[in-house]
Amino acid sequence: MPDGLGAPLPAPLFQRLAIIGLGLIGSSIARVARRKNLAGRIVVADRSEDVRRRAVKLGLADTVETSAASAVEDADLVILCVPVGAMGGVAEEIGPHLKSGAILSDAGSVKGAVITAISKRVPASVYFVPAHPVAGTEESGPDAGFATLFRNRWCILTPPEGTDQKAVARLAEFWTAAGANVEIMNPAHHDLVLAITSHVPHLIAYNIVGTAADLETVTQSEVIKFSAGGFRDFTRIAASDPTMWRDVFLNNREAVLEMLGRFTEDLTALQRMIRNGDGKGLFDLFTRTRAIRRGIIAEGQETAAPDFGRRTGEENGS
Ligand code: NAP
Repeated sequence: MPDGLGAPLPAPLFQRLAIIGLGLIGSSIARVARRKNLAGRIVVADRSEDVRRRAVKLGLADTVETSAASAVEDADLVILCVPVGAMGGVAEEIGPHLKSGAILSDAGSVKGAVITAISKRVPASVYFVPAHPVAGTEESGPDAGFATLFRNRWCILTPPEGTDQKAVARLAEFWTAAGANVEIMNPAHHDLVLAITSHVPHLIAYNIVGTAADLETVTQSEVIKFSAGGFRDFTRIAASDPTMWRDVFLNNREAVLEMLGRFTEDLTALQRMIRNGDGKGLFDLFTRTRAIRRGIIAEGQETAAPDFGRRTGEENGS
């Protein structure tokens, strides 16, 4: 069955692509780069021996390196796919080994803090173009990735002021060929938008599943046995990688706290409506929120299927 990614490019966009960190995102980039002929050679590096072994077994790259510094030698595109809190350390390690004229990018879910951590470690001769592919699942590791992860998803590029426009255009071309829709955004605005569309929803999911697990009056086996659609959907999100999400909250603190403040105020208003028996207020809000979901479906970012459009391993956008 066609995968919707179209034919491979007649000539690769980059000679040598280096991917550092071969988890869900890194391995998906490697897969789509191979599938679409985005790079002449694909080199990957991961600190974990098990991951490197899997990469070889799965045929994810032409070369699998132990060290990030060796992987980036001579690469004309380097993408960092490690947790947000690890970006600075990796940038420091590879900085002196980056080729002059290379494009350095990342896949981090937070942009402001990542730009601060990476920029100061990038030589002036290297073009740093930060990016965030807004696509993901609750799975992690090299086996979780798939070539179509980014198809019809957004990839947000957040070049700091003064970034070379040709480098931005080349990276946009890479992500478009990988199946994504590209948008350029200011890093601070990205962090605010993602705080409400992704980070706070994850926090709410972690919280509600944690609350259910800690209840004294309802047993854990009852929570599992009688879990209805709403709770089940929260548990899927709350199963997301703990390291990745810890780093997101520690590095997008201000935007998350601002959105949480708004969320808490609105929750208090809802509490009041329930206490006051304000059925009209509840009905009006639920009608407005329904329209948002319809808008997401109309944009093709979700389907209206009764399983919420999610098969196992399907994208959720993080
Ligand atoms: P993942 O599946 O957990 O993979 C992360 C990789 O980074 C692993 O290979 C891991 O190696 C390595 N790593 C962890 N800590 C490291 C360190 N201190 N130094 C060097 N390598 C380290 O994570 P992912 O989901 O692919 O996420 C990668 C990046 O993409 C993150 O910045 C995340 O914010 C972003 N992102 C994620 C999603 C999503 O939904 N998952 C979506 C968009 C963007 P070990 O196995 O040895 O720990």
